[in-house]
Amino acid sequence: MAATAQISVPGTDRKITVSTGLFIDNQFVPSVDSKETIECINPATEEVLCSITAASVKDIDVAVASARAAFNTTWGKNVTGFERSRLLNKLADLIERNAQELAELESLNNGKPVRLARDADIVDSVGCLRYYAGWADKITGQTIEVDNKTKMAFTKHDPIGVCGQIIPWNYPISMWAWKVAPALACGCTIVMKPSEFTPLTALKLSELVVEAGFPPGVINTVPSLGSVGGAAMSSHLDIDKVAFTGSTVTGRKIMAAAAMSNLKKVSLELGGKSPQLIFESANLDEAATWAAMGVLFNTGQDCCAGSRVYVQDKIYDKFLPILVEKASQLFVGHGFDEKSGCGPVVSKVQYDKVWSYIEAGKQQGARLVLGGEKRTEKGYYVDPTIFADVTPDMKIVKDEIFGPVLSVGKFSTEEEAVKLANDTTYGLAAGLHSNDAGQCMRVSSALEAGTVWINQYNLLNNNVPFGGKKQSGIGRELGSYALEEYTSIKAVHWNYGEKLDWPL
Ligand code: NAD
Repeated sequence: MAATAQISVPGTDRKITVSTGLFIDNQFVPSVDSKETIECINPATEEVLCSITAASVKDIDVAVASARAAFNTTWGKNVTGFERSRLLNKLADLIERNAQELAELESLNNGKPVRLARDADIVDSVGCLRYYAGWADKITGQTIEVDNKTKMAFTKHDPIGVCGQIIPWNYPISMWAWKVAPALACGCTIVMKPSEFTPLTALKLSELVVEAGFPPGVINTVPSLGSVGGAAMSSHLDIDKVAFTGSTVTGRKIMAAAAMSNLKKVSLELGGKSPQLIFESANLDEAATWAAMGVLFNTGQDCCAGSRVYVQDKIYDKFLPILVEKASQLFVGHGFDEKSGCGPVVSKVQYDKVWSYIEAGKQQGARLVLGGEKRTEKGYYVDPTIFADVTPDMKIVKDEIFGPVLSVGKFSTEEEAVKLANDTTYGLAAGLHSNDAGQCMRVSSALEAGTVWINQYNLLNNNVPFGGKKQSGIGRELGSYALEEYTSIKAVHWNYGEKLDWPL
């Protein structure tokens, strides 16, 4: 048995107990060969919450062996879709029952408001599990006509096998659900590596996996450094697929490792530098609200963050103060303060990175119209920051910042707007605000992005696919499309009468 840690819940006399070992074969266990640990920090206070075991390369081997054994015996093709559906629904019920505690733990480790973790992230995650529970008994192939007399063919959508899942720190519970739910629905088994910055809720969810009744080895949780556990998973010869969400730099490494090992299937959800276009016919108040939410939600730590806003020149001077006013209304505070609309950024590394971009914006001559001042209190807080009159060569316009920093620029024609929007190596998301239906249709077609929002931003649905174009990724999550990522199609050709003329 591995150890546990007690984490105090601010403002209460409660403590949350977290198992600090690795979760393999439905048990929390110590590392087989290492004493390495990961310190979990509360970004709101900079205090250490606890230390947990960091999986070594050998631990990854043990977890993969457990997942393979489960795939071959109790899961994979050995379990019906009805049973997979039942267990996914049970897990969803347990997460719903524990929503408050999970939200508190998420807030303590990630910084986001408890209220939003509970009412947005966890609600959506429960919905995701239930959505894929609905699919689990409906994963079917096709019968394909061959000659109508002596031969036919059919396809089977088999589970792909053992899946390595590597997730980031910005939405620890949601990313867990997005990965786990379709994989389990298809009959795959899982080795899950949460981010080293936010492993605590994945460990807590593992307890619920046992309570739900999943057989040992179906889901294993191995917190580890990316360069150790993540790299070992990407090059592992007995992992059939890696699903990854994180930075483009890491995605590239994972794809290269997969190519050089066993050519495992890879899906990548990567970064973005998404544009929001505000056309002159838009309702300016509405557009400003969506634009502010579009970049500031989750303190800007969102892969879809609409961090480049381009405004048509005729309305630029009118729109900018409305946008600044909306952004300044957001209360950035401690995750346990009910007023907080967003919390601190996740870590010191991220804090320093965001501030280096704010400094670059100032140095490159962008006009600072909101924020840009450091706070003196403890915690990795960054207030909403807006730069106006930006130009395409500026670092704040080119690079993904992953913080609450917005660049605002100007365009005159629709063609120019599309050109500016597409002037990026990324292609995750884009938004446009216009009351001209023809323009909405033209511009949404021309935008190079996996998701385009019209007169809204940042809202996703479990039944609508999500993923990137260009260097924002490969493959799709959510919706029926995600099932393709976890199945392997087998074609069976059946002869029930043809005699072969021999020799040819
Ligand atoms: P990251 O790439 O540093 O880390 C993501 C995960 O990869 C972590 O679990 C990390 O441990 C692991 N990792 C690191 N190095 C690895 C390696 N060599 N091999 C295998 N795994 C490794 O990203 P991050 O800083 O955690 O997250 C922020 C980034 O994620 C941003 O760029 C953001 O745009 C992106 N992101 C994308 C989406 C999306 O859906 N497209 C969603 C959330 C975040």
